[in-house]
Amino acid sequence: MKILVCISHVPDTTAKIQFTSDARALDANGVQFVINPYDEFGLTRALQLNEQLGGTVTAVTVGDASVEPTLRKALAIGAHDAVRVDALPSDPLQVARELASVVSEGAYELVICGQESIDYNGGIVPSALAEILGWPVVTPCIGFDPAGGRAKASREIDGGKEVLDIALPAVLGAKKGLVEESELRIPNMRGIMAARTKPLVVKAPTGATAGSAPVSFSKPAGKSAVQMIDAHNLDALVKKLHEEAKVI
Ligand SMILES: Cc1cc2nc3c(=O)[nH]c(=O)nc-3n(C[C@H](O)[C@H](O)[C@H](O)COP(=O)(O)OP(=O)(O)OC[C@H]3O[C@@H](n4cnc5c(N)ncnc54)[C@H](O)[C@@H]3O)c2cc1C
Repeated sequence: MKILVCISHVPDTTAKIQFTSDARALDANGVQFVINPYDEFGLTRALQLNEQLGGTVTAVTVGDASVEPTLRKALAIGAHDAVRVDALPSDPLQVARELASVVSEGAYELVICGQESIDYNGGIVPSALAEILGWPVVTPCIGFDPAGGRAKASREIDGGKEVLDIALPAVLGAKKGLVEESELRIPNMRGIMAARTKPLVVKAPTGATAGSAPVSFSKPAGKSAVQMIDAHNLDALVKKLHEEAKVI
């Protein structure tokens, strides 16, 4: 099976997030970037399918040269080759349009995205990409088993699970459940060495345009300081809840 795994290059979950002085972009100074955690589930399932069915696993990112260490990590985990679309995307539609061009040039039978990227949290790319390609989409996808040109794919729904019979090719939005955390693969020294020489092709962008542009980013208001009230002073507690917190 020829599989394309879409990798989003995102700030590490422990990174302290700051914005540029005009508040229009993330200030990437000093921020450590990683593979989007949902994409790791997708990459692992792709590698499992490759072990069962053969074929290839290609990792792709739309981003400038700064995303290459993240793509090399995907190669170290086991992807056979990688593509970087040399564009600085500013919204999910632009990303989906560039990814669609990669898909149409590669005769892929399956595209696996994450259900959402943990930076801009749009959850838009898998569905937008499937719409452009005219393919079925299953997101958030928690199970996928192909057989005879079709597949059984499961989606998490409110309070339950939906099992779908889908035609291939298709787009998935991976989530924990597609594989378990214990199945995730950590690059070993052999993988890291092999990744240095695996092909990483830089593709010129199609010039796809974005549908939106950020006006400003802001952080949630900080939490106010904890106030300690004497356990026996109920009057003070009621006064604060009434006059300051305004909850009673
Ligand atoms: C240096 C840099 C700066 C950026 N600045 C901005 C910005 O200011 N505003 C903004 O909206 N976006 C920006 N992006 C793009 C951003 O990282 C996302 O790619 C894009 O916005 C989609 O975000 P989303 O949250 O909607 O994705 P989602 O729809 O939540 O992503 C779901 C899945 O789609 C795939 N995917 C998402 N993005 C990519 C990608 N770039 N390449 C390959 N697969 C992908 C992944 O599999 C991901 O798990 C920037 C990217 C880079 C590399």
